[in-house]
Amino acid sequence: MSDESQELGITESKSHKPGEWYAEVVQKADLADYAPMGGFIVTKPRGYALWEAIQDSLDGWFKETGVDNVYFPMFIPESFLEREKDIVEGFDPEVAWVTQGGHDELEERLAVRPTSESIIAPFMADWTRSHRDLPMRLNQWCSVVRWEATETKPFFRTKEFMWQEGHTAHASNEGAWEEVWTRLGQYERVYEDVLAIPVLRGKKPEHDKFPGADTTTTVEALMPDGKSVQGATSHNLGQSFAEAFDISFVDEDEEEQTAYTTSWGLSWRALGALIMTHSDDQGLVLPPTVAPTQVVIVPIWQEDTKEEVLEYSEGIADDLEDAGFRVELDDRDERNPGFKFNEHELNGVPLRLEIGPYEVEDEEATLVHRPDNEETVEDRDGIVDAVDEHLEEIYDKLYEAAEETLEDNVREAHSPEEILGTIGKHGGYVKTPWCGDEACEEVIKEKIAAEIVMQPLEDEGGSSGGEVPEPDHDECGVCGDPADEIAYFAKSY
Ligand code: AMP
Repeated sequence: MSDESQELGITESKSHKPGEWYAEVVQKADLADYAPMGGFIVTKPRGYALWEAIQDSLDGWFKETGVDNVYFPMFIPESFLEREKDIVEGFDPEVAWVTQGGHDELEERLAVRPTSESIIAPFMADWTRSHRDLPMRLNQWCSVVRWEATETKPFFRTKEFMWQEGHTAHASNEGAWEEVWTRLGQYERVYEDVLAIPVLRGKKPEHDKFPGADTTTTVEALMPDGKSVQGATSHNLGQSFAEAFDISFVDEDEEEQTAYTTSWGLSWRALGALIMTHSDDQGLVLPPTVAPTQVVIVPIWQEDTKEEVLEYSEGIADDLEDAGFRVELDDRDERNPGFKFNEHELNGVPLRLEIGPYEVEDEEATLVHRPDNEETVEDRDGIVDAVDEHLEEIYDKLYEAAEETLEDNVREAHSPEEILGTIGKHGGYVKTPWCGDEACEEVIKEKIAAEIVMQPLEDEGGSSGGEVPEPDHDECGVCGDPADEIAYFAKSY
C-alpha cells in the first residue's frame, strides 16, 4: 500500500475503539465534518445524499397517507412556548434563545425551535372549525436546535439536527392512536426496508415520555457495540396541546369538542445508526437502497488491452444505467486498480465489477460484494439481471447480520446483580419485570449508565394504545417489589 492509500484508509478498529472508528469513517468517507462551534456538523454532499434517500422514502409514504408538507418559522415567541407547561419544563435546559435583532433588544425572547408543537398548534387551532377539517395532518422537513448537555457525536447527537416533524389533529382518541401506529409503522419500514436495520417497537416509560405526551412510542435499534439507538418516536399527545392552544371543533351534533393531537419525528440519527450498524474496518458499508453509487466498474488494463477493456466496460455501464442502476465507471488513468478498490470500499459502494482482458475474452464480469468480498463471475449476457440479484443479496446479508445481533442480544435478568452483570458483559437489551418506579432505573443508571430504553407492547397497532404484557415473574428485577410491567434496560446513544 502506498503512503497515500494508507492515509485514505481507516486506521481505528470498530471492535476495539468504536467511538474513534465511527468518527474516522464519517470523515474519511466524506459524509460530514466538524463545524467550528462544538456540537455542530457540516454535512457534505455524500452525507446529504444519504439523508435525501431517507427523505425520499418517508416523504412519499407520508403523502400516500394523507400528510401535507408545510413550513413554520424557526423562532417561537416565549409566550407561545409557555402555553404548554410540560414543553417549557422539558426543553428548558436545551433551548437556545434569540434576545437581539440587529442592534435592538427584542421585546420578547424568541426560542430557536427545539420542536414545533408550540408554533404549529395555535395555527391548527385557527384552521380547525368543524369535524370536517379533521384529521389534519401536517409535516415539516427542517432542523431544530437542542443545546445538548451530553457528549455530541455526528448524526447521533448534535446540537442542531435535521429531521421531519409531523403534527396531526383528530376528532377522537382512536383517530390519534391510529395515526401514532401508522407513523411508527412507517419508521419501522424505513429502518427495515431501506436501511437494513431490524428494530424493536415499544413505548417509553412514563418518566421518559416526550414533554406533554400521554404516550411516547419508539423504534429502537441495537448497534454492534451493544448500545441501543432511539430510532424515531411517535407521540400520542392526548388533549394537552389541544387544550393549551384551543384546538377545538364542532362535531356532528353541533357540540364544541376538544381535538386530540399527535406528533412524530425521525432525525438524521438514522444515518448514525446506518453507518454504525453495517460499516467495518475498511470503511463505510451501505445497503444498495441508499448508496449514491450502487455499482462501480473498475476496468483493469495494460496499454495493449486498454481500448478493448474500456469499450467493453462502457457497454456494461450503459446497460446498467439504462436499467436504472446508479453506476460509476472508474476509468481514471492516474490511479491503479488497487487504489480504486480501496477507495470504493472506503466509500461503501455495495457492488464492484472488475473487468480485465480475460473477462472481455470470455464475455463475463467479476462481481465483488462490498460487505464480505464474496466474488462471483457472471455472463455479460445476463449482466443486468445478475446485478439486480446481487444487490438484493447484499441487502439481505446486511439485514441478516444485523438481525442476528439483535436476536442474540435480548437477555432476561431477575436481580440488580444479574442486570448489571449481563449488560456489563454483553451489552444489548436486558428484559426484566419492573415495578414502575423510576428509582429502580436510577439504581442501574448510577452503576453502568444503562437505562430503560423501552417497554414492549401487545395489542398495539389499532385504535387503542396497546398494553405492556405481564411479566413471567412478578417481582421487580431491581427492588423485588410486585411488578406488573416489563422493562428493557440498555446503554444507549
Ligand atoms: P423527540 O422529539 O425528542 O421525540 O425526538 C425525535 C427523534 O429525534 C428521536 O427519536 C431521536 O431519534 C432524534 N433526536 C433527538 N435528539 C437528537 C439529537 N440531539 N441529535 C440527533 N437526533 C436527535
